[in-house]
Amino acid sequence: MSKKMIETLAIHAGQEPDPSTGAIMTPIYQTSTYVQDGVGETRGYEYSRTGNPTRTALEGALAGLEGGKYGLAFASGMASTDMILRLLNPGDHILSGNDVYGGTFRLFDKVYRRYGLEFTYVDTSDLAQVKQNLRPETKLVWLETPTNPLLNITDLQAVADILASHPNKPLLAVDNTFATPYLQRPLELGADIVVHSTTKYLGGHSDAVGGGVVLNSDEHYERLAFMQNAVGAVPGPMDCFLVLRGIKTLHVRMDRHAENATAVTDYLSEHPKVGRVIYPFDDTHPHREVAKKQMRSGGGMVSFVMKGGVEAARKVAENAEVFALAESLGGVESLIEIPAAMTHMSVAESELAVDPGLVRLSVGIEHKDDLIADIEQALDKA
Ligand SMILES: *Cc1c(COP(=O)(O)O)cnc(C)c1O
Repeated sequence: MSKKMIETLAIHAGQEPDPSTGAIMTPIYQTSTYVQDGVGETRGYEYSRTGNPTRTALEGALAGLEGGKYGLAFASGMASTDMILRLLNPGDHILSGNDVYGGTFRLFDKVYRRYGLEFTYVDTSDLAQVKQNLRPETKLVWLETPTNPLLNITDLQAVADILASHPNKPLLAVDNTFATPYLQRPLELGADIVVHSTTKYLGGHSDAVGGGVVLNSDEHYERLAFMQNAVGAVPGPMDCFLVLRGIKTLHVRMDRHAENATAVTDYLSEHPKVGRVIYPFDDTHPHREVAKKQMRSGGGMVSFVMKGGVEAARKVAENAEVFALAESLGGVESLIEIPAAMTHMSVAESELAVDPGLVRLSVGIEHKDDLIADIEQALDKA
């Protein structure tokens, strides 16, 4: 399927009608084991930690969407990130973006540092900082673009070029959760590994937690597939089915998320109570040129700072009605949250701490007039 357009891949990649019945939708193979025709004679599956046909379909879909050779599905986005870190050895150095998902920072700082991995956090949108902080023992560069929650943009091609001239050729891993492969395909820009929280836009309906990894390297794929089975952080068949079903409308949803997010950005930018508004394709965004070079649209996430600080931000979040006050993002419904007090508690008082007056919106696909009216009434009360 690799030559097809992404709209077609979203619906078909990795999926064939079920060979036993012709069912057009991939069945939920809710089974832990598989009968063998003779001792050691399997029909391709032996135990569902090792492999499950619903998961295989999802893994093919993820690979197809990202234009990669291999896909692997995991139980969550964090389980996917954890697997990538397990490619490394004690003493290795990781250069990470300084505005990564709070849980990613927590995994790096509170779990993997204890195992002898060293981390440096830099603003990867500043290529000079990337160059200056690479060490001889750097084995991995980890970044998000757009970042969460500040929506900073890193030039993926430029970072890949820098790493290609480093003697160790560190791996470039990109968490593509915010952009999705519909907006941006990191492997085509020189990244080695793409990581997803499929909980977000790929699943798209806030009904499953999951993760995935896509890559081209045979060697790293072998190792990750080995660890997927050895460690066991696999998603169940029902969750794989839900993500597969969500992916089928990815392109349609993302277009509407971006249209609505643009309308919300324009509204917020004119509002007297609102300070800085952050949206990757907005004329005021410092990295809009890079964003427009590597992304199809600005996506569905918008962040803004309330001039009235943390109190005003909390009032907006608590008074919004169509925008539900909740963590997570990427579902069809609009969500609002205060990163400093919710999703990014794990980076509080660290070098990654975010402005307490920052509000993050995951703009859904409701009618944009209703979304703007809701923000208007919530801002009135702040
Ligand atoms: C949510 C999220 C994760 C973690 O994914 P889970 O599925 O919650 O484990 C990682 N990266 C980003 C950018 C996220 O938004």
